[in-house]
Amino acid sequence: MSLANPVFTKINDSFKCLNCSKQVPHAQSTCRDHCPNCLFSIHVDNNPGDRSAECKGTLKPTAWSQNKKKGYMIHYRCEKCGEEKLNKFLEHDSFQADDFSILLKLNSVTKVKE
Ligand SMILES: [Zn+2]
Ligand SMILES: [Zn+2]
Repeated sequence: MSLANPVFTKINDSFKCLNCSKQVPHAQSTCRDHCPNCLFSIHVDNNPGDRSAECKGTLKPTAWSQNKKKGYMIHYRCEKCGEEKLNKFLEHDSFQADDFSILLKLNSVTKVKE
């Protein structure tokens, strides 16, 4: 498999949540790409944080898993194009951490893709 060098550019801008309409703040620790209130995200990245995807569909949280290195991961399916993605759950953030009770309402996945 030959992938052209993926570009990982971090663009940490705020956006308005497509699901609950709340303004999603910047994250301090990492690139915020999902809503801390309802965990929905927007399909804007091909690689984490690059904002290069054309889709702009709603990424619906479907499940969660635990990654040894990264901690809790949120599994998403895009409601527009059907692509499945993983995002890191922001357990600790000085601005606004994700709502853990919402994560726990999703199904847990034991098989984790790296
Ligand atoms: Zn939201
Ligand atoms: Zn999509």
